[in-house]
Amino acid sequence: MSVKITLGDVTYEQPTQLFINNEWVDATGGKTIVSVNPATEEPIATVQAASAADVDRAVKAARAAFHGEWAKWTGYERGELLRRLGEEIKKDFDTLTAVEAADSGKPRWQNANYDVDHCIEVYNYYAGWADKIEGKVTMDNPGRVMYTRHQPYGVVGQIIPWNYPLAMAAWKIAPAIAAGNVVVMKTAENTPLSMLYFCNLVKRAGFPPGVFNLLSGYGAEAGNALTGHMDVDKVAFTGSTPVGQAVMASAAKSNLKNVTLECGGKSAAVVFDDADIEQAAKWCVEGIMYNMGQVCCATSRIIVQEKVYEQFIGELKKACEARTTIGDTFDKNTSHGPQVSSIQFNRVLNYIAKGKSEGARCVLGGDRAGNKGYFVQPTIFADVTPEMTIAREEIFGPVVTVTRFKTFDEGIAIANDSLFGLGGAVFSQNITQAHKAANAMDTGTVWINSSNDQDLHLPFGGFKMSGIGSELGGYGLDAYLHPKSIQINLDSKL
Ligand code: NAD
Repeated sequence: MSVKITLGDVTYEQPTQLFINNEWVDATGGKTIVSVNPATEEPIATVQAASAADVDRAVKAARAAFHGEWAKWTGYERGELLRRLGEEIKKDFDTLTAVEAADSGKPRWQNANYDVDHCIEVYNYYAGWADKIEGKVTMDNPGRVMYTRHQPYGVVGQIIPWNYPLAMAAWKIAPAIAAGNVVVMKTAENTPLSMLYFCNLVKRAGFPPGVFNLLSGYGAEAGNALTGHMDVDKVAFTGSTPVGQAVMASAAKSNLKNVTLECGGKSAAVVFDDADIEQAAKWCVEGIMYNMGQVCCATSRIIVQEKVYEQFIGELKKACEARTTIGDTFDKNTSHGPQVSSIQFNRVLNYIAKGKSEGARCVLGGDRAGNKGYFVQPTIFADVTPEMTIAREEIFGPVVTVTRFKTFDEGIAIANDSLFGLGGAVFSQNITQAHKAANAMDTGTVWINSSNDQDLHLPFGGFKMSGIGSELGGYGLDAYLHPKSIQINLDSKL
C-alpha cells in the first residue's frame, strides 16, 4: 500500500505499511501516525504504527534471517551489499532529499542534500570495514593456542530520533550490517516517511529477507516492546536522555541486552581572547543554528573571555544575520526552516520567554518568525549566567547563550558545569592553550577552531548523561561486535 505524493519537483509513491522480511505488511492494532510538514502545518501522509505484536513479528523474521543464509555471507559480500545500497541512494537522491525536507522541515538544498550525501559516505565507509574484522591470537602459553573471534550480537533493535532520520539510521544500519548483525529499526513519530521510502532501496540493493526490518511506531508501545524484547540481543538508541534512561532500564529488566545510547547535550564553545574572533563567531553560528538548533551536539552555550566579550557578541550577531534566510524549505536560498513539530516550536518559545524573564539580554531574535509553520527566529542571549535555565537545559532549538569568563580555569569550569558531556569547541590561536582546554573538557568530542563539523572517521559519543558507547569510526563497528575467547589445549592431560 502506498500513496502518490508530490513535493516540489518530485512525485513519488510513499509506502505507509511496516517493512518486515522484505515485504510491506499491515500493522495490527489499528494505530496510525499522521506526518505533518512543519513548514506548512499541512499533513503529508498517514502511516501505520506498529503494535507490540508487530515488533515480535519483525524480531522473529530477523532471528530467522540471522540463522539463515546470512550467516554464510562473507565480510566482503556484506561490504558489497552496503556499497550497492549507497548506489541505490544516489539513484533516488532527489526523492530522498525532497521527502526528508518536507517531513522534517530541513531546508532541502542546504540541509537535506548534505544529509543524503553523508549517508552515502557512511554506507561506503562501513562497506570498507566489513572484510576487516579481526580477532587476536595470544601467545602467552606454549601449551595452548588462544584466540578471539569478534562476532555479531545477532538481532539488533535500533531506535532513531527525528532530527536526522536518514543519517541517524545510516550511523546505525551501516556498522550493524558490516559486522553481520540483523536489524529491527523503529523511526521517530514525527518523521516516518524517508526511512519507509528507503526500504525500497534496501530491497533493490539485494538485502536478504529479514536482515533489515523497519517499523513506524510510537515510543511507548513499539519502542518499549523492542527494548524489552527477550530475543533482541542489543539495542542502539538515539534520542533524549530521559528516554535513554528508560531504554536502558527496559534492556536491563528484560534480558540484560547490550545498549548503546546517544542522548542529549548542552555543549559549550569556549572562546579565548587570542582567538580569531570573526572566524570563531562564524563557526559558533553554524554550531548552533544548523538544522535550526536541532542537533544533539550543538554548541548552545558560548563562553567568552571578558577582553573580547562585546566584540564577539557584535561579530556573532553580524554572522547570524548574514547566515539567516528564513522561508520555503524547498527554495535554494533558504538556510533556516521550521522546528520539527508544534510541540518543539512551543518548547523553544517557552525557553525564550524563560530567558527573558530570568534577565538575559536578547540581542537577536526572540520570537516566532512569520505566522504559519513552526519557524523560530535565530535567537542570541547575552549576559547569561551559568545558573539560568537556558544555560542548563537542552533547548534543541535556534537559541544560543553567551556567558563571560575571566581565567582559563573559570572558562573550563563553566563549560564542564553540565550534566551533559557530548561535544565542545575551543577557539584559540595558542596551540598550547587550545590543547590544554581540549584535554580539560569533559566531553566525548572537542573541536578546536570549529564547531560541529564531525568527521565520520572519529567516534562520536557522550560522556556523563549524554550517553554510553560510540558511533562512527572503527569504534562504531566495535559497538556491534562482541569478542569470544577460544582456547585449544595442545598437551596438558588430566
Ligand atoms: P525522544 O527521546 O523523544 O525519542 C527518540 C526515539 O525514542 C523516538 O523514536 C521515540 O519514538 C523513541 N521512544 C520514545 N519513548 C520510548 C520508550 N519508552 N522506549 C523506547 N523508545 C522510545 O527524542 P527526540 O525528541 O526524538 O529527539 C531529540 C533528542 O535526541 C534530543 O535530546 C537530542 O539531543 C537527542 N539526540 C541525540 C543524538 C546523539 O547522537 N547523541 C543525536 C540526535 C538527537
